[in-house]
Amino acid sequence: MRGRGLKIRMPSIGNDLVKQDFSPPNMDDIQRWMAAAFDLATEALENGEVPVGCLMVYRNEVLGKGGNEVNDTKNATRHAEMVAFDHVVEWCCSRDLNLNQVCAQTTLYVTVEPCIMCSSALRLLNIPLIVYGCRNERFGGCGSVLSIASDDELLTGSSFKCISGYQAEEAVEMLKRFYKQENPNAPKCKVRKV
Ligand SMILES: [Zn+2]
Repeated sequence: MRGRGLKIRMPSIGNDLVKQDFSPPNMDDIQRWMAAAFDLATEALENGEVPVGCLMVYRNEVLGKGGNEVNDTKNATRHAEMVAFDHVVEWCCSRDLNLNQVCAQTTLYVTVEPCIMCSSALRLLNIPLIVYGCRNERFGGCGSVLSIASDDELLTGSSFKCISGYQAEEAVEMLKRFYKQENPNAPKCKVRKV
């Protein structure tokens, strides 16, 4: 499995990241955390959810993790990232730590490019770096539809860097499997004739 489907574009880690006392992950870190994110995506798929999984890692500690929970909660905003964000907020509150300072040293690992909504939240939280699998052609906020991640004109939060393409084929395969099956929660408004 190791190294399979690896087509990764590593960004140059700019001075801004170094200034924040942020140590970027190495290849072993990326493999370890992305494997865990893919496990969460598999779990989501088995639960009838869009197969996206993610982890938020701060100084080698997982502060938050999640899979997509939209169908289970009947709440369209419960993307994997949002589930993980809530854990990070709780973690910071229980230790009386500043959320933005912790986030400034946190990396998000996610199987699919964050959507526009989640990319905006990542900016507001001050996350410096994300690692993701495949592109999100429908809703991607890191270049596919909009470039929320890198847009210097945006006045909200701070831009973040992306390492993209990790096990992208596998992530796409999972999405295809999900969209091929009937979504039991989709509104039944069309009569299909075979
Ligand atoms: Zn999202």
